[in-house]
Amino acid sequence: MTRLSQLLLPTERQPPADAEAVSHQLMVRAGLVRQMGAGLWSWLPAGWRVHQKVVAIVREEMERIGAQEVLMPVLQPAELWKRTGRYDAIQGELFRLKDRKDADMVLAMTHEEAMTSHVAQIVRSYRDLPFSLFQFQVKERDEPRPRAGVLRTREFVMKDAYTFDRDEAGLQEHYERYREAYARVYDRSGLRWYEVESDTGMMGGKRAHEYMAPCAAGEDDVVLAGPDGASYSANVEVASADAQPIALPPAGETPVTIETPGTTTIAALAEHLDRPAGSLLKAFPVVVTPAPATVKGEVPAAKPRLVLVLLRGDHEVVEIKLEKALGGTVRQASEQEIRDRIGPPGFLGPIGSDVPVLLDAAAEATTEANDGGGWVVGANVVDQHLDGVVPGRDFAYEIADVRAVVAGDTVDGQPVTIEPAIEVGNIFQLMTRYSEPLGATFLDEEGKEQPIVMGSYGIGPARIAAAAVEQFHDEQGISWPKAIAPFDIEVVALGKQGTDEQLAAAKVYDELTAAGFDVLLDDRNGGAGQKLTDAELLGCPLRITVGKRSLAEGRVEAQIRRGQETIEGGLALDGLADAVRELW
Ligand code: ATP
Ligand code: MG
Ligand code: MG
Ligand code: MG
Repeated sequence: MTRLSQLLLPTERQPPADAEAVSHQLMVRAGLVRQMGAGLWSWLPAGWRVHQKVVAIVREEMERIGAQEVLMPVLQPAELWKRTGRYDAIQGELFRLKDRKDADMVLAMTHEEAMTSHVAQIVRSYRDLPFSLFQFQVKERDEPRPRAGVLRTREFVMKDAYTFDRDEAGLQEHYERYREAYARVYDRSGLRWYEVESDTGMMGGKRAHEYMAPCAAGEDDVVLAGPDGASYSANVEVASADAQPIALPPAGETPVTIETPGTTTIAALAEHLDRPAGSLLKAFPVVVTPAPATVKGEVPAAKPRLVLVLLRGDHEVVEIKLEKALGGTVRQASEQEIRDRIGPPGFLGPIGSDVPVLLDAAAEATTEANDGGGWVVGANVVDQHLDGVVPGRDFAYEIADVRAVVAGDTVDGQPVTIEPAIEVGNIFQLMTRYSEPLGATFLDEEGKEQPIVMGSYGIGPARIAAAAVEQFHDEQGISWPKAIAPFDIEVVALGKQGTDEQLAAAKVYDELTAAGFDVLLDDRNGGAGQKLTDAELLGCPLRITVGKRSLAEGRVEAQIRRGQETIEGGLALDGLADAVRELW
């Protein structure tokens, strides 16, 4: 029985002072999570219910495709990581420590080494393959910038899975099955999401896909063309790697004319802005406008994504203050720093006689929050925009309808757009990246020793929860997708404990619980205003309010949280469970 009077649900009127992301603000305010230190978060009862509902969905989908659940240690001998080369290759993100015997240990940030080394000891012959293993286990990562509440923490639970096959064909089969399972996980969780090609990064291997949930707090940018990214979808890291690199001219030198596959785009942009083409910087594709029909479901009203960094012709970066115009500030950064932040070379292009401009995501924040943001190319005129840049007049909104692209501005005739998104999952074809160094081999049908062909598959349940909050909220609070809400229904009993309303509400609670719903009963003594405000903040999909007036008519009030739709005339107490089932 979950009674609010007994539930540890510490709601707050104000968000934490440092909370920028909506999910950070709302999850703290709703009493779901609490911070312990930088990137270290605790889940309180209602929040943990959400987390575990996500976990349950993921577990079902893993079992459906035949994966077997295991659990492996987080604390591991460094030796394993030395053998795969990741002990040295991974820098600050890997937690390293020594045990009392002075042996090197690590805290696992992922479990390829652990899984593969076990499998190396167990698998002997082709008859032992294929199979796949998964776990829900804590990962430790000393993230350089833990941020946004539970979106990026230094310790988090990951569902990580691994497939073991005889050959690449087997891996491809497994990989496709995982893709289907992932689609079901995100659909069932109620997220808006899409799958994009991604870089294999520190995992190594052959092919990879990421699962992205579009949201303002997203730190990744996704390039899309066509409905649901049907013609093209990729993480910008990948898209920009496809883009033609353009050398940055040496400081002080007159910039070169742009002659790359992007030239037409640049020209179009230049013409649009009524600026000389030489004043534009080729970086990569960009659209600042809302991008209809590029993501699944409804598209969020896109904010113009705008903090600026000015690069002068001589590569001096000029600090510009944009609080007034854009509500953000940009601090001075070196060219190197900008290059580091922007990513692979090729992002920065030839610089014209005028001042090129890079527009970044996350306008409201300082550059601290802009790392890895998506970059937009614009133009500017020397010395004109050091202060008080005016969007519209100068570029921001003007750029909005210009589509610049990686190596051309359309894919299959479909305009390319860019969206901020948070990565909620990632799958990799590892091939033999881990089986070779760790000696995970098998004897094939000819008795020949072969390395096991592997894949690895991650999902962050906390990210799914927080992404849902990012995508589904309003001024009053969270509006959970049904499948992952802390409770299906909140029954609000108006009046003090012991009143008729409270007694009737308890009955409603019992009836709905018996009908199979997860119900929270607000049986506190507080005022109606406080109870309703708290219910809106927590965001259960359905709210049933038991008050004196409707009770006298044998009815209760009902409100659907998503869209705040009140059910006209409420619901009759008689046959309530059936009526609720119908609404659900
Ligand atoms: P990011 O690019 O956001 O840093 P990642 O690529 O490092 O994520 P993976 O190594 O692919 O993450 O891990 C698999 C999944 O684990 C991610 O898709 C994400 O859902 C989750 N995850 C990764 N890092 C974190 C984190 N710091 N906090 C919470 N969840 C995380
Ligand atoms: Mg990471
Ligand atoms: Mg990533
Ligand atoms: Mg990843």
